[in-house]
Amino acid sequence: MRVPAFPLLLCPVLFLAACGESETPVAGTAQSAAAAVATTEVEVSATGQIAEILHRHTEVLSADEFEGRAPATPGEEKTIAYLQQEFERLGVEPGNGDSYFQAVDVTEITTASDAILYLQGSDYEAQFNYGEQMMVGSQQQLPFVTVQGSDMVFVGYGIVAPERGWNDYAAVDVTDKTVVILVNDPGYATQDPELFNGNAMTYYGRWTYKYEEAARQGAAAALIVHETGPAGYGWDVVSSSWSGPQIGLTAEDLNADRVEIEGWLTQDSAESLFDGAGLDYQSLKFAAAQPGFAAVPLGDIQASVSIENSVRTSISQNVIAVIPGSERPDESIIYTAHWDHLGVNPEVEGDNIWNGAADNATGTAGLLALAGLHMQGPPPRRNLVFLAVTAEESGLLGSQWYAEHPIYPIETTVANINMDNLNTFGRMRDVVVVGASSSELEHYLEVAAAAQDRYVTAEPNPERGYYYRSDHFNFAKVGVPALYAESGEDSIEHGREWGAAQAQDYTNNRYHAPSDEYDPDWDLTGAAEDILMYFDIGGTLANESTYPEWFEGNEFKAIRDVSAAARR
Ligand SMILES: [Zn+2]
Repeated sequence: MRVPAFPLLLCPVLFLAACGESETPVAGTAQSAAAAVATTEVEVSATGQIAEILHRHTEVLSADEFEGRAPATPGEEKTIAYLQQEFERLGVEPGNGDSYFQAVDVTEITTASDAILYLQGSDYEAQFNYGEQMMVGSQQQLPFVTVQGSDMVFVGYGIVAPERGWNDYAAVDVTDKTVVILVNDPGYATQDPELFNGNAMTYYGRWTYKYEEAARQGAAAALIVHETGPAGYGWDVVSSSWSGPQIGLTAEDLNADRVEIEGWLTQDSAESLFDGAGLDYQSLKFAAAQPGFAAVPLGDIQASVSIENSVRTSISQNVIAVIPGSERPDESIIYTAHWDHLGVNPEVEGDNIWNGAADNATGTAGLLALAGLHMQGPPPRRNLVFLAVTAEESGLLGSQWYAEHPIYPIETTVANINMDNLNTFGRMRDVVVVGASSSELEHYLEVAAAAQDRYVTAEPNPERGYYYRSDHFNFAKVGVPALYAESGEDSIEHGREWGAAQAQDYTNNRYHAPSDEYDPDWDLTGAAEDILMYFDIGGTLANESTYPEWFEGNEFKAIRDVSAAARR
């Protein structure tokens, strides 16, 4: 049951303007208080004033002098100093002992683009070139990585999912072998809702998972077959995003536990390889999506490939602040937003600053707005943590570092609420939950949204796996229920068609481009409503003693169950 709390919601704007004396104090639950906010003059003004706060911080963080906030640059120095200053001004305590920072060690690897993958069997021989027919790289942080004469095995989707009774590696030992893997999961392939959530992508469908599992199985190399449909993007995205400098977390063991070579094959390359082994790619692909599939050796074909890397290390910072819990200081709710963006590219003529105003100066501003709101009330019973993470754009690295080096114990971290790219188009009737039907946090979201007369819907393209593509995912991975929601497109003022057109215009013309710049004409009242919604959810959780759980069948439930056992 939700505890009665938050009389402060009646006056959520104390930190900006004194509440009018005429306001009637109302006792009630967070929902009813939030409902009051959505329906009275006071609340309209609360939304307006939160919108102003979002404007102010977003404008600062996305200014040209912040240089696009790339990790380990002067832009980072300015960004993290600003965040510290603002947390101090709000009176929010340092979140890491007496520091507002958590150092994140990063390593940049650039793979030479002349690598060749050699395939050799008794009836088959091929050379695949980097960029055109394959892409390769390595998580191992070494100047030279090589695999020679490694037997090849087709392992279907490369999935080990005990909760679904599925193990593509059950019948095969792939130690020191090269595994060839399909992208996405059997649910997408068959569109059978009984199989891996049907069309919606599970984590088992993400390419990152495929490499992690291949490493657990002891493989030497893992090559994913690219197909545009199930991947969700074309080969050009693979070849461009895998070339050039790749930033990863610095690993003490230099990632010796990862496979030596991670990479991709084009579909044409894969079909040629299967042909060479006397096998049919299409029929094996079909078989791999059926329960009981067993891995298939690719004849006597062996793979050899060597890569040369230039390796450089540097340090970036997560920023962290806390409102300590008054009764349950061992338990925490963590709000996250990534402060970083893509920086400056001096080789580009004209505007070459990727300001990242929407992505994610807005979410970072949201973190400050939430901290200000929570500071106005009585101390929460549990810790409320505000974590601005670095290097999201390089592969969710700051949040990964935090999850692997937690400051607040993972077992007693109750929930994560993430903000990435707030709505700049005004108030929306709908709230989209990314990765719907994952955890009980969605019940809290429904209540908070209903209190604003809004409705919750699932994301329109769950097969693209957006749930695995922002920082909350690293909390999910260690078992913490993690919520990622955002304003939808059902504009109160202009209707759904208009809302969808705005979102499309952003995706086409500003997403990850220098034109993602601050605009004083943005309508941030919808974002402000989202902030009030997260405030309601975070505040409710902070004053409860319950632990929301993953729904049955979710891929992160097992690891959370281990945490829950450790708690008792
Ligand atoms: Zn982002």
